Amino acid sequence: MRLVLLGAPGSGKGTQAVRLKEYLQVPHISTGDLLRAEVAAGSPLGLQAKEVMARGDLVSDEILLGMLKERFSREDTRAGFILDGYPRNLAQAAALDQLLAGLGQKFDAAVQLVVDNEQIIERLAGRAKAEGRADDTPESVRHRLSVYDEKTAPVADFYRQHGQLTVVNGVGALDEVFARIIEAIHPDHEVG
Ligand code: ADP
Repeated sequence: MRLVLLGAPGSGKGTQAVRLKEYLQVPHISTGDLLRAEVAAGSPLGLQAKEVMARGDLVSDEILLGMLKERFSREDTRAGFILDGYPRNLAQAAALDQLLAGLGQKFDAAVQLVVDNEQIIERLAGRAKAEGRADDTPESVRHRLSVYDEKTAPVADFYRQHGQLTVVNGVGALDEVFARIIEAIHPDHEVG
């Protein structure tokens, strides 16, 4: 199964992706995690991305596409994937379509987790305390939410127009939201 997870920062994409990965037995590709690994390693790419990420802006489409191509060139993605954090704008959505077409693949569904802004701000404030991520400061959170509304929300419309969008209510207990996602995607897989 090939899935794209959409949702604002703090909508629970990452958390649900980890569970989906276990359930579907396909790799979880988080562009945020890939970028944070580059930053932690102090690579040239990481050095370029660090400030942009801390501000809550989008890292360049070119860097993201390069990273993604590299990741998709690995064998383990043949069986499927859960893509988390990409695409974040319309150009990236077009690039993903092209990349997958080149690989002879098509994703099964774009799942959008919807959570209201008030709850998102609450969740991210909690995460800031627990994890101390550089981009969970109130200022960066506010900025990431506006970047999401301006650049990423149109991606959901793009997939809706293509008949690929599934909208899932992201408010509730983790198990409840997970069950809603499974129901939405109806995988042919046995639970196990
Ligand atoms: P969140 O969803 O909480 O914002 P992520 O881990 O998905 O967290 O992303 C963290 C940061 O990494 C983003 O704010 C952005 O700077 C960068 N990033 C991740 N994915 C992309 C992407 N597809 N395009 C551009 N920048 C990205």
